[in-house]
Amino acid sequence: MIKVEQLTKSFGKHEVLKGITTTVDKGEVVALIGPSGSGKSTFLRCLNLLEKPTSGSITINGQVITDPRADIVRIRQGIGMVFQHFNLFPHLTVIDNITFAPRKVKGVPAEQARLAALELLRRVGLEDKAEMYPARLSGGQKQRVAIARSLAMEPEIMLFDEPTSALDPEMVKEVLNVIRDLAQTGMTMMIVTHEMKFAREAAGTIYFLDQGQLVEKAAPSAFFSSPQSARAKTFLEQVL
Ligand code: ADP
Ligand code: MG
Repeated sequence: MIKVEQLTKSFGKHEVLKGITTTVDKGEVVALIGPSGSGKSTFLRCLNLLEKPTSGSITINGQVITDPRADIVRIRQGIGMVFQHFNLFPHLTVIDNITFAPRKVKGVPAEQARLAALELLRRVGLEDKAEMYPARLSGGQKQRVAIARSLAMEPEIMLFDEPTSALDPEMVKEVLNVIRDLAQTGMTMMIVTHEMKFAREAAGTIYFLDQGQLVEKAAPSAFFSSPQSARAKTFLEQVL
């Protein structure tokens, strides 16, 4: 579903991604881990063209999205992204946050968008919060609304960049459970996370990034029990 070839990204003279090549299958769940500054966020942002790659190519569903002629707006619609900070619209209720893009961007009729949003809220365990404003929700609830809002656009791929890093510890689990459920529906996902236990349990593949390189790519059982590179070993010693 996703094919990345020799992807590089530089900011000025600083080469942040140094030639990443990989493929992600439909339904695959990838956990992206690595030290701070290793390029995890930049990699995710390249996948939905929030950053313009410097060289290399990204193909999604057979479409070369790094082609200058590619329709970026349309491509982004198929890729949901959830950030550390939820970025909900503060002046809209929960349900209006969720229905906003389907109505405005896709032209979904109001009642249909509302029914779909209520179903998504049920999936993330927040059907009783539909008419509330974000300010009245906990961090974990806001993040679950942000996930529902992304799903409302019916993406084929979901990208998560440290979705639980801004949350108090007691709220981490409720968000990870929602992501885990989503993984089980067959959604293709890439998740940057520092939650090693979650990565181990929920991901099918671990990517270990260091200094802009994809140093290791392995099944969780293999990666966590016997990392191949010295860099991954050192990293795991620090975080486990
Ligand atoms: P990670 O998510 O793994 O912590 P990032 O992808 O955020 O790493 O950043 C990788 C490197 O790229 C860091 O050195 C960071 O300072 C640099 N970087 C990221 N975004 C920008 C930007 N917009 N301009 C300049 N440098 C950036
Ligand atoms: Mg980051």
